[in-house]
Amino acid sequence: MEIKKKDIRALTKEQLREFFVKEGDKAFRGNQVYEWLWSKGAHHFEDMTNVSKETRQMLEDNFVINHIQVDQMQRSSDGTIKNAVRLHDGLIVESVLIPAKNRTTACVSSQVGCSLDCKFCATARLKRMRNLNPDEIYDQVVAIDKESKLYHNRPLSNIVFMGMGEPLMNYNNVIKAIEKITSPEGLAMSPKRIVVSTSGVPKMIKKMADDKVKFKLAVSLHSAIDEVRTSIMPFNKSFPLDSLREALEHWYAATKNRITYEYIVWDGINDSKKDVDALIKFCKFAPSKVNLIEYNPIDDGEFQQANSKAIDMYVSMLEANNITVTVRRSRGKDIDAACGQLANKS
Ligand code: SAH
Repeated sequence: MEIKKKDIRALTKEQLREFFVKEGDKAFRGNQVYEWLWSKGAHHFEDMTNVSKETRQMLEDNFVINHIQVDQMQRSSDGTIKNAVRLHDGLIVESVLIPAKNRTTACVSSQVGCSLDCKFCATARLKRMRNLNPDEIYDQVVAIDKESKLYHNRPLSNIVFMGMGEPLMNYNNVIKAIEKITSPEGLAMSPKRIVVSTSGVPKMIKKMADDKVKFKLAVSLHSAIDEVRTSIMPFNKSFPLDSLREALEHWYAATKNRITYEYIVWDGINDSKKDVDALIKFCKFAPSKVNLIEYNPIDDGEFQQANSKAIDMYVSMLEANNITVTVRRSRGKDIDAACGQLANKS
C-alpha cells in the first residue's frame, strides 16, 4: 500500500525540530529545513544544499513539498493582475494584484469556493470545496509579491483577504498564514497592512479579539436592517445584526482597532433614507468608517448599482454624522478580477 506522504509545510518549526530529534538528528536541522521551506521557498528537497544527501532522501521518503502553481495570469488595462492558482490537488483559486499610486495590494483567497450564500457574489455560486492550507494562502502572497516586483518595480505592501471564501470560516489556517506572512522568516510584513474581510461571523470576531490579533478588520455589511440584509445575505438569519453588533463592540473594546464597513448601494434594495439612518446608527456602536464600494455586476440584473444621487445621499448623511466615508472604484473589471467576480470563469 502506498503511504500518503505528509505536506512538510503543514509542520510548525517546533514540530520539524522534534521530527529531527526523533530521527536521531539535531533539532537545529529543523531550523535549517524550515528556512529552506519558508524564507528560501525551496520547491524540492534536493535544493537544500546544506543538508546531507541522506537527510534529503529521508525527507523525500516521508514528505512532499506542496506548492501552488500560477496556471494563468491575466493583466488588466489598469495594471491589475489576476492569477488563476492551481493547488496540489488540481483545484483552482484566484488571487489579484492591485497596483495603486503608493501601494500594491494583494487580494487573496481563503477557501476554494465559499461557505456563504451572498446573492450578489459570483464566488457564492461555487459551493465550498475545501479550506486552503496555510501554505496555500502564503504562496498566493509570495506569487503576487514576485509579480509586483517584476511588473511594478516594488514589493507588495498590503494584503486583503477579499478573494474567494470566508476567512473566518477557515480561521486557524488564515491565522497561521498571517503568522508566516508577518514573521521575519516569511515576508516580515506588518500586520497593520493586512485586512481580513468577513461577512460577519460573530463568534469568530470575538475569538479574533480575544486572540489579540494585530491585523485590521473589515465587515461586509451592505445593510444595517436585518430584513434587508437577510434577503441579500441569507446567512444573516443565523447571525443577525444584534449578534454582529455585540461581537464588534467586543472587538473594539479588546483591540481598539477601528472597523471598516464595506457597503454597496443597490437600486431599490438599500437606497432609501431609512437604510442610511440604520447604517448611521450601526456605525455609532463602535468606532468605524464606511467604504462605499462599486457593484460589479455578475449576472442579468437582479442587482443594480444605485444612481449617484443615492450614493451622494449616503455620503452627505454619513459625513453630517462625523462618520468617515470613502467611495471606492473597482479595479480590474475587464478581467473579472474585481470584488465578487472571482468565479474561475476559465
Ligand atoms: N467573505 C468575505 C471576503 C470575500 S468578499 C467577505 O464577505 O467580506 C470581498 C468583498 O467583496 C466583500 O465586501 C463583498 O461584499 C464584496 N463583493 C461581493 N460580491 C461583490 C460584487 N459583485 N461587487 C462588488 N463587491 C462585491
